Amino acid sequence: MTRDDRTRRIVLLSTGGTIASRWQGTGYAADAPGDDVLATAALPEGIAVEVVDLFNVNSSRMTTRRQLTLLRAVHETLADPGVDGIVITHGTDTLEETAFLLDLHHDDPRPVVLTGAQRPLGTADGDGPGNLCDALQVAASVRGLGVLIAFDGLVHAARGTVKTQTLTVDAFSDPSEQPLGKVGFSQVHIQRLPDRSTPLPLPKAAYAAEDAPGEPYETLPRVDIVTHHSDGDPLLLNAAVAAGAQGVVLVATGAGNATPEIAAAVADAVAQGVLVAVTTRVPAGPVAEIYTGGGAVDLVAAGALLTGTLRAGQARIALLSAILAETDPARRAEALRPLLDGPVRPEPALAAGGSRFAG
Ligand code: ASP
Repeated sequence: MTRDDRTRRIVLLSTGGTIASRWQGTGYAADAPGDDVLATAALPEGIAVEVVDLFNVNSSRMTTRRQLTLLRAVHETLADPGVDGIVITHGTDTLEETAFLLDLHHDDPRPVVLTGAQRPLGTADGDGPGNLCDALQVAASVRGLGVLIAFDGLVHAARGTVKTQTLTVDAFSDPSEQPLGKVGFSQVHIQRLPDRSTPLPLPKAAYAAEDAPGEPYETLPRVDIVTHHSDGDPLLLNAAVAAGAQGVVLVATGAGNATPEIAAAVADAVAQGVLVAVTTRVPAGPVAEIYTGGGAVDLVAAGALLTGTLRAGQARIALLSAILAETDPARRAEALRPLLDGPVRPEPALAAGGSRFAG
């Protein structure tokens, strides 16, 4: 039998989201099992699907514990060599975070493809059925691309992709990059390779998460996100550290800038063993060491790492993975560095008045 006429075995891990949401009297919430979600979609030819109901939540209720349970389920599913790929149905709100966590730990040529919907189950103009059909097609067609997102006819790499639309069906994009490819008319076209870091081993916590479902969240590391703005002061960053955060993502302004007071708070946090990373609230482009006076130059000097083009949600996942991988706080920055996008440093001529990084 050639590769082309063999039936592909795809496992569908169902986790909830709008694709599984029905009207609850006051609003929509995830409640449909994976079989009901699958029944809405046309099945691409030559694919057999097995459904596993993992959990059923709106993804704004996603937790590290659930994400680690999903990560473990992916690894256990792929331990079966007869499985050709995995599709995960997931709420769109935090889909990019889960996708990136899975991608950082994905060391297998077989694809894991996440999808979801912006319109609830059973709506006449619903996007879920088409997205699910496309995700199955992608899962049955590609290899060696890591964890992917299939949505609205496009294929996105996990790294860098963010939810950029609250309501319209073109929910996802990478504001700093082109999509990986397209899917439609039963075909998948891949136009570029994804940027991926060397895969991490499955964290020990992935086992603890499932084996101790009653354990409080506090047993997993707390990683917080703090946003800078005009009038911003170190109060929330300090509060995160006081609350026991082992990692903090600072969402800075512009190319990664804050204030001298915040740079001092970062230095204090780093001295206490807290991992600090700097991203930006600007939608596209990398953070870069350009400005002093509380800018990225000072934040890096204080011990923070720059996240390249990773935005807050995925930067937080990178910190979480580094913290789970490395128990010694003194070594966590080194564990984090390879998970981030490459550092961007302007050439001196540009820093001294060029336009490439200005604005
Ligand atoms: N609130 C939903 C969720 O993330 C949104 C969606 O799935 O599109 O679960």
